[in-house]
Amino acid sequence: MEAVRTSMRRASRKSQVRVLTYSRENWDLETYEVFGEGRDPSPCPLCERIGFYGPRMEDPGRRYRQCRFCGFTQDIDQEPEHYEPAAHDCADWPEVARAPYIWWASPSVSTFRCPFCQQRAVVSQCLMARPIDQHDHNWWKVPQGRKRSYYLRFWENWEFTKGRMFL
Ligand SMILES: [Zn+2]
Ligand SMILES: [Zn+2]
Repeated sequence: MEAVRTSMRRASRKSQVRVLTYSRENWDLETYEVFGEGRDPSPCPLCERIGFYGPRMEDPGRRYRQCRFCGFTQDIDQEPEHYEPAAHDCADWPEVARAPYIWWASPSVSTFRCPFCQQRAVVSQCLMARPIDQHDHNWWKVPQGRKRSYYLRFWENWEFTKGRMFL
């Protein structure tokens, strides 16, 4: 129920970003700026938080951008989507920056393999509130407007995000 209310609240903001386009050229440029030039991270186009958003790549060749704070996700040449935050209730699920790690679930996916205990989990049983909708969520304490090196060091403090760009 909370998830339904949350998605209704977000619907108006969602309509504002529906017009955003994201091409392969956009992805190439954004990726080059972040990883090639080492520019400071830019804010999420939806929630405007810094330190969670960036271009991403997944095998086999999926290119997209995502914010791990609000769930904004956009594959190249697609409309933006609003992913749902999930956490498996198992002993192996890690904490990152004093909050449960989030597995962001596509609206089209109903189960996922837990990357920590390897069991198949049902998304609807694992849903939680988005950090942006949880005002006491510890990720709100991640400082804003810092340099790239700051965020790299910050996420290095957490076992699961060591060596990764942001989350
Ligand atoms: Zn965001
Ligand atoms: Zn698990």
